[in-house]
Order: sequence, then C-alpha cells, then structure tokens
Amino acid sequence: MVERIFPFGATYIAGGDFPPKEDAKKDLEKMKKLGFTVFRTWVSRSSIEQKAGVYDFSEIEEFLNVANDVGIKCVLTVDAGLPPDITCEEIGEGIIGVNTKIGKPYPHFQPCFDNPHVRRGTAEYLTALSSHFKNHPALYCWISWNEPHITYSDIACYCEYSVEKFRKWLNAKYGGLEGVNTAWNERFKSFSEVYPPNRPLRSWGKYKPWLDWRAFCDDNLAEWVGFVSNALKKGDPNHPTHTNLLFHQILYNQPAVGADTWKMAKAVDSLGVSIYLWTQGGGDFPWCFSQIVDTVRSAAESEGKEAWVTELQGGPTIWAHSKSVTPSPKQIELWAWQTVARGGKGLIYWLWRPRIGNVHSGWENNEFGLVSKDGELRPRAEAAGKACRTITKNADLFLNARPNAKIAILQSQTCKNAAASEIPDETIFHPYEGQRRYYTQSQLGAYKILWEEKIPCDFINPPSIAAGMLNRYKVLIMPFTYMLDEPSANAIKNFVRKGGCVIADFGCAMKDEYGAVHITSPGFGLDEVFGAYSYDIETPDDDESLKVKIKPVIEGSIFEANLPLYAFREILKPYDKAKVIGEFINGEPAIVENHFGGGKTVLVGTLMFQSYLLKGGGWRTFVKKLLHSCGVKSPVDVENVPSTLWCNIEIGFLEHEDGKTEVVVLLNHNREDLDLNIRMQNVYSVIDLETGKELSLERKDENTYLKMMIKGKSARILKAEK
Ligand SMILES: [Zn+2]
Repeated sequence: MVERIFPFGATYIAGGDFPPKEDAKKDLEKMKKLGFTVFRTWVSRSSIEQKAGVYDFSEIEEFLNVANDVGIKCVLTVDAGLPPDITCEEIGEGIIGVNTKIGKPYPHFQPCFDNPHVRRGTAEYLTALSSHFKNHPALYCWISWNEPHITYSDIACYCEYSVEKFRKWLNAKYGGLEGVNTAWNERFKSFSEVYPPNRPLRSWGKYKPWLDWRAFCDDNLAEWVGFVSNALKKGDPNHPTHTNLLFHQILYNQPAVGADTWKMAKAVDSLGVSIYLWTQGGGDFPWCFSQIVDTVRSAAESEGKEAWVTELQGGPTIWAHSKSVTPSPKQIELWAWQTVARGGKGLIYWLWRPRIGNVHSGWENNEFGLVSKDGELRPRAEAAGKACRTITKNADLFLNARPNAKIAILQSQTCKNAAASEIPDETIFHPYEGQRRYYTQSQLGAYKILWEEKIPCDFINPPSIAAGMLNRYKVLIMPFTYMLDEPSANAIKNFVRKGGCVIADFGCAMKDEYGAVHITSPGFGLDEVFGAYSYDIETPDDDESLKVKIKPVIEGSIFEANLPLYAFREILKPYDKAKVIGEFINGEPAIVENHFGGGKTVLVGTLMFQSYLLKGGGWRTFVKKLLHSCGVKSPVDVENVPSTLWCNIEIGFLEHEDGKTEVVVLLNHNREDLDLNIRMQNVYSVIDLETGKELSLERKDENTYLKMMIKGKSARILKAEK
C-alpha cells in the first residue's frame, strides 16, 4: 500500500495543448518547492494504444520519472477512451434525446460505454497500464473517471445497448417480465417490447417507469466507473482509485447526468468533486462550497472512505464558463482551509499552468492558471503553498480528525430524480434562482441554517437510513421529503422510539418512493411518530406568517415569533397527545410537536427551509431552539460580532481519533477584519497551527474563552487539547 499523505497540489499537463514538455521538470520543481505533495495529470489511451492491444507507455513513464526525480507524487487520471480500430459505424448513435429520438453524437469525450464496441479491449488496456506502473515510486493514485456523467440536460442514452441493459436491470429487479408488467401496469409479451420512458413527469410521464429509468441511469454510471476501477485494480492492487463528480450534480440537482453520490462512493476508494462555484455556480456563496464538500464527505464516509476537492478554480476565467473572475490569493487560501474545515482529505487546484494550444483547448485557453502562462509564480500559488505547508506539517492531525456530526440532513436521490423531472427549474446552476424549486432549495435552506449556526452536520440517504446508520445521530432533518420508502420510514420510527429527534416540514412522506400518495401522511405509519397528519393544502398570502411559541426545556426565555410561510399552508391535524406549538393566522395547527417512545418530533406545515433560504426571518432561531432542546448545539460559540457578519463566520470542528485533540478552523468569509470572543468547552490548551504558538486562555467552569483577531477573507487554524 502507498504511504498516506494529504494530497495537495494542482493539475499539470505537459505537451499538446498545454505548456511544452521541456518545461515539465522546471514546473514540477516549483510545485515541490511550494510544498505541494501531488500534481494531477492525464494519461490518454489514444497516445498509448495506437494499434489494438499494442501499448507504448514510454511517454507517460518519462513524465513519471521526472516527477520521481523532483520528489512529487502523481495523481494519474485515466480515460477509458476508444479502441484504436473502432469505426464510426460501431460507435453508432450513442446518446439520443428524449424528445427528438434523433441520433446525436456525444458531446463530451466519451461515447456510450454500454456499447460493447466502445469497451473493446478497454479492460485489457487499463490493466496493462496499471500493471506497468504499479511499482512506480511517483504514482500516488488513479483517477478512474473524470467528472462522470451521461449528459448535462434532461436526456439519457437510448441506444440499443443501453436499452438492452435497462431490460436486464428490470428483469433482475422485478424477477421477470410478469413482475415488470405488474409494477408498470403493462401487458408486454416479451422484453423486446419494453423501452425506457421518454416522457418526463412534467409531460405526464408515469412515475414508476420514469423513476426506474433514472435509478438505472444512476446504477449504470456507477457501473461504468466501477468497471474502470476494477480493471485498474486488477493490474495494480496497491494504489487506490478515485473519481471526481461535478459539483452541480450534488448541489443543484442534476440527476439527468446519472450521478448518485452514494452509489458513486461504492465504485472507488475515495470520492472527489470538481467545484467551480464562482464561474459556474452562481457566485460567491461560501455555504454552498461547504454543502458540496459535506455531501461528498458524507457519502464517502458511509462507505468508510474519504473525500477530496479534486478540482478547484486556481486562476482567471475569461470566457469560461458563465462569469469572468479570478480568485484572489486570500480566496485561494480560504478555500483550502474550507476544504479542511469540512473534513476534506485532499485538494487539487485546476490548473497549474493554463492551456495554450488550439487543438482541443476550446474556450478555456489561457484560463484557470494558478501561475502565469509562462510558469512564473503568482501570489495565488504562494497562498496555496502556504496552506499546503501548514497541512503537511500537521498531516497526522488533519488526516485523522473528522467532523463528528450529531445531525443528519436526509438527501434522497429518488426525490431529486423526481423533482428534476417534475420541474426543470430544479436543476438551475444558482442557489436562489428558479420557480417552485421546492426540493433543491429546501436542501439548500436546511444546510444554510446549520452552517450559519456553526453546527456540524452530515447528509444521509434513505438506503443508509434503512441500513441503520441513523444510530450515530441525535437529530434527523427532513427537508421537503415528499417521497420515502417503507424500510426508511420504519428505521426513522425506530430512531425516534430509541430517543432520536426528527424535524420535518411540508409534504413529509406524502408519497411512497414511486409517487403513490398516502391517504394518511406522513405515510408508512410516520403520522403516529409525528403525532399528526396532513389534512389539507392551502395557498397563503405572499407576506403571510405563522405564529410559533416554544417554551424552553431547561433554561432561557420563551421563544415567540412570526415566521414567514413559503408556498403552502399545510393544515395539520394533531393526535391526542401531540402539542400544537405553531398556528396559522386562521388559528389552524401549523406546527406540531410530539413525543414518541424516547424521542421527539416536530412537523411544520410549510416549506420552512426554503422559506429561510428565500425570505430569511426567524426560522434559523426556531431550528436552533429545537436543536438545543434535543441536546445539540455548536461546539464553538463566536461572540461579540454584529449578526450580519456573524452569519458569514464559518467554523470547522474536527475531532481527532485520539479522543482528546480537536481541530478548530475559523473562517471569516466577510471582507472586514474582526475581533472575536470564542467560547469552547473543556479545553485546556490551544495552539495556533500557523505560528505554532500557544494562545492565552481564560477558563471559567467548563468554558474556555479565547480572544482573537481574524482578518477579512482569512482563516485561523487552531489545535485544541481537551
Ligand atoms: Zn447507450
């Protein structure tokens, strides 16, 4: 096995459209001098296998030898590529649109991988490649697939091979044609009559065939990536595999691309993500960055694996993608610490030097460089190097400490797949845009509340819930969880019975996982758990609010507020022992609190998380109060800051596996320098990891107080001992 390091570096490709190969040694030496532990590069099948089954590894070997001479490790991205002797006829129609049914050539690197002609000799090529380099001292890991996706829009592959594979998938799922006929309410006489649906839900497509088709696409893409990983593992069992998802697959609900974060985590040894929030994702929303990393980390950790930020904007954009913007050196450093703060275990900027050629480069030419186009260091690179050196100096600490969240936010691929098909707005690349974008914006709003309150959280998906993984949490949050399966509902019931808390809002489990409506919802018996059922849905006025009143459990004052509704007024009917803690203006029940077994639930009859995202208001305080009553609060309090600035102070809190060391990453996303009063618990020493100096503390009872200055757009990284 390879030695464990914190992979930190930039993508560097030499030759072709990139800087000349003669510069490679000089460029790699500059990275090494900065402290970078890795660089990422590509190995292209077309250059190695020019004749089928005949491989020439000399070019990439020469490059790896240079890396070894310099003393920097290589993260090697492979492409499954195409067999050198493939014909256009064999490639065939590839991807076909839902509406057009007319063949289109695949737009981005890879024709349909279900086509056996496309896969011809691919496993053999990959195994020969990995076997050749398995003992190379410069190799750190393989990236099996860069940014796996099927398409960017609401289409998928309908070629004969994908259709055939879908039929086999249905056969296995439903145990034969009769099972499919029953499930889909059809009368197919043979599987040759079965086709994937081409009508999304918004065009009266049927739920079950559509959701089967999307689930198949998710499985299928994971199979593609797993196929490459397995072929690499066969030749090289020593080095781990990795894949990096696109951030908008995760944050902005792009299920059409066929990527289920949790399924993908099973296909590789570590999971990563490409993040371009500024140029592609709507702008500077620091909590979005954290949400992406927390999601990828949660999915990876559910498989006992780690997460990286595998691509991150390193320099200017001119034309690509939707905004021209260069991150400042401070921002480059801040992103590095944000990655660490969310528990990321690797970071690679895109790029070291920009593309300069004109063959494949397209619109990203002369863009994204962390250094200038001639390879000279810029302050951006120096800033990245500074963060990297602090991480490397404390590698054991950063590699073995992780967020130990007590709250999980439920994220359902079924809801995502359905929502994106119900309304295309669900997939917009911007957190605040879109109409009736209930699912995505509920997820965003729920996370934003916890992020601002500085409370660590994980994401959990229904299969993990059904597998009993809720046990590690105290609280489950269910933002607009309008579809849910029975095993997950049962697991949630058990979770509450054993003392867990659940907070849910509008539409909770109103449908099963295939879209059938429960007459009594929350369905599958969850009405009993929530102590209420959904009675009717009405439209509130634009500025309408509900009145809430919560009494404190232990200490403090009564919380009373008017909280803004969003989109719906869901009239709840409480059961006998439940308590109404919020009312609509007409006096009907809006929020119901219930005790079930040893646990507690709160059901809110409007889209409270989306309301918080779009309207703000008191929902954040309301959720905080509920969490306090469930015994969950931020491990670090920040005091003495105006509330608008306070919201943009982020705290990463990582617990080392030794049980007594904590890493606290304080991030100031404001432009203003701030003097902070920090309160932690049961801490007796704090060291500033950048200076190595111990900070002076004031202790009172179990509280430890710390005063410190934090510059605008900067981080402070502390090691605390309990
Ligand atoms: Zn296909």
